Amino acid sequence: MDFKLGEKEEALRKGIREFAQKELPSECFCLLLEEESRDEDWKLAMSISKKLAQKGWLVMAWPKEYGGQGASYWEQMVYGEECGYWGIPGVAMGVSGVAWVGPSLMQFGNEEQRKKYLPLIASGEADGVWCTAYSEPNAGSDFANIQTRAVRDGDEYVINGQKVWTSCAHRARWCWLAVKTDPGAPKKHRGISIFMVDMKSPGITVNPLLNYHDAHIFNEVFFDNVRVPASNLVGEENKGWYHLMQSLASERHSLGPPLYGNARRLLDELAGYAKEIQHDGKPLSQNLGVRHMLADAVVEAEMLKLFNYQVTWELTQGLIPIYGSSRNKAFGDQLLERIGIIGMRIMGAYCQVDPYSKWTKLHGIIQRVYLLSPGISIAAGTDEIEKNVIGQFKLGLPKSY
Ligand SMILES: Cc1cc2nc3c(=O)[nH]c(=O)nc-3n(C[C@H](O)[C@H](O)[C@H](O)COP(=O)(O)OP(=O)(O)OC[C@H]3O[C@@H](n4cnc5c(N)ncnc54)[C@H](O)[C@@H]3O)c2cc1C
Repeated sequence: MDFKLGEKEEALRKGIREFAQKELPSECFCLLLEEESRDEDWKLAMSISKKLAQKGWLVMAWPKEYGGQGASYWEQMVYGEECGYWGIPGVAMGVSGVAWVGPSLMQFGNEEQRKKYLPLIASGEADGVWCTAYSEPNAGSDFANIQTRAVRDGDEYVINGQKVWTSCAHRARWCWLAVKTDPGAPKKHRGISIFMVDMKSPGITVNPLLNYHDAHIFNEVFFDNVRVPASNLVGEENKGWYHLMQSLASERHSLGPPLYGNARRLLDELAGYAKEIQHDGKPLSQNLGVRHMLADAVVEAEMLKLFNYQVTWELTQGLIPIYGSSRNKAFGDQLLERIGIIGMRIMGAYCQVDPYSKWTKLHGIIQRVYLLSPGISIAAGTDEIEKNVIGQFKLGLPKSY
């Protein structure tokens, strides 16, 4: 079987490599969501994002009329792989806008909304940065349990409630928000709607939530009588659940290629490190334990690549890859966790130093992936939830409760 990609895709791959080598500082390797924490990383991400937009890559999949290039699914896959390999920041500012707000507006927004918001996202500028607010203190996997309310008042809705774990809320200009519009609906998933909310609206409070390594990625967001124009309702009122199922599919399948790219880069870096470091007078790369750990991981990474090819092919056939997207996301984030552990074992005590200190090796990427990857296994649906989907759609198991 020949999996070779076409000339267009290979030219794109080369172009992104050249871009990364020219535009990124040598120590830069940004993992998913990482750019949102430190101000210096955010500043770099914003500048790279604008350059990606100028190249026409940021939203390459979108139709030309909305700032994209109408790129094929294969080109998008290559773009995801390369951005993951080079750790390019600013690829999907605040993730949400490029990866699912835009695609969702094209699927179920109206033309007025598309004309207003899609060019903002496509510009790569600060006004096109989004956060996504689904989770609440009592609603995560059980998303239909959300309690934040929107009540219609003339030409506006009034929003009250609390969201939690909202990545990028401290950087975002816009919020993609899920609320209850009909709390009395016979089934709780039927009374949900989606709004686009200006984060500068009076009544919004954003409180930082630092994670266990003091990174400021997510936040609590409080809505206190926040007034939103009725024209910011996306899709049909009370049909938000059905709309969001499509958004989540976009979110999950967009993660596979960058996870593969991340994995291959980390393994290349670890292999280089093992060749360089001497242990008992021999390079570490001659140690069988080290070689086998790296070999197992690279086989898994190549499996992920083929999984991504399969999902991409399904997309080209007009199929909706529900099982494949969940499989690739769960497999990819667990692979990243395993590589973090392997890296810790290979680098030993160097992994206990501050990743940003002068003592760190490989620019601290092993410590960072070790600390960040468990969160990636939770974000966008936990691995357990992905496995429920796999069980249902691949094995025909009954739907999980
Ligand atoms: C890094 C990061 C970024 C995030 N960013 C955002 C964001 O931007 N916006 C946003 O809205 N949310 C965000 N989240 C929140 C994330 O979506 C939720 O944490 C996730 O959906 C799980 O919900 P929960 O934390 O309430 O856990 P719960 O749903 O309470 O789950 C607790 C445990 O029970 C398991 N479990 C739950 N139900 C089932 C079931 N039916 N079958 C088997 N196991 C089950 C879960 O897998 C988990 O292990 C982020 C989370 C992280 C870690």
